[in-house]
Amino acid sequence: MQPVKQFVLTVEGVNKSFQGFRAITDLNFYMDEGELRTIIGPNGAGKTTFLDLITGRSKPDTGKIEFEKDTDLTRLNEHEINRLGIGRKFQTPSVYINHTVYENILLSLKGNRGVFAALFTRTSPAQREKIDQILTTINLLDRAHAQAGLLAHGQKQWLEIGMLLAQEPKLLLVDEPAAGMTDEETARTGELLISLAGKHSIVVIEHDMVFVRQIARKVTVLHQGSVLCEGTVDEVQNNEKVREVYLGRKKH
Ligand code: ADP
Ligand code: MG
Repeated sequence: MQPVKQFVLTVEGVNKSFQGFRAITDLNFYMDEGELRTIIGPNGAGKTTFLDLITGRSKPDTGKIEFEKDTDLTRLNEHEINRLGIGRKFQTPSVYINHTVYENILLSLKGNRGVFAALFTRTSPAQREKIDQILTTINLLDRAHAQAGLLAHGQKQWLEIGMLLAQEPKLLLVDEPAAGMTDEETARTGELLISLAGKHSIVVIEHDMVFVRQIARKVTVLHQGSVLCEGTVDEVQNNEKVREVYLGRKKH
């Protein structure tokens, strides 16, 4: 028998206004476990607000946001949501610049109790293996002992993804990872995200259509706080409503 497919995220009828401005309007969104989902949409479409609602940074006015089978995220605070295994990467990388790449991962390991304990007690072979595995995944094994503050912009972004991975998230939310990256860094970021799909459920918000084309499986187009359309990159790019929104073009 096929295992029953489970949604990692169920969003239904969500609304969010800021001083009367409707940033999210009757939003419905369903995501399978292990999916790599790309969300695109013009500036102000509500993409970042959507991530804020999932992570508990802000609360919806109405609607349902459920994680896995039936965990109601709207009742939990940011910290509780994070502990469930929902990790978020913001646009600007926040790494410990005065620590090495290796230490940054060490400090982020799930179950680590405090900076002092992490840095001044012996690491176990299992911890070291886990760190090496993450450094390999994010392509920074050869920079393990470099100071994080000295990394290139793209490398800092990968390190932060590695720090999230150290927490063993089930759901990973990544807002515009390719922003400010060179073409080569962008391509490597795409490979990294693709390699993580399946092991984690991943939402990637992105503007750069070359990058979207590289990583995309299912694409959701947000517009004025609602889903305008969903499908493959080709399907959404050929969608008439999407073309109107992006190109301001109307068919007569
Ligand atoms: P995107 O990430 O798609 O560019 P955002 O989610 O950042 O869009 O913003 C959606 C809309 O909601 C924008 O018009 C923005 O100005 C507004 N908005 C977002 N957060 C707030 C806030 N905290 N207060 C007031 N307006 C906000
Ligand atoms: Mg945004």
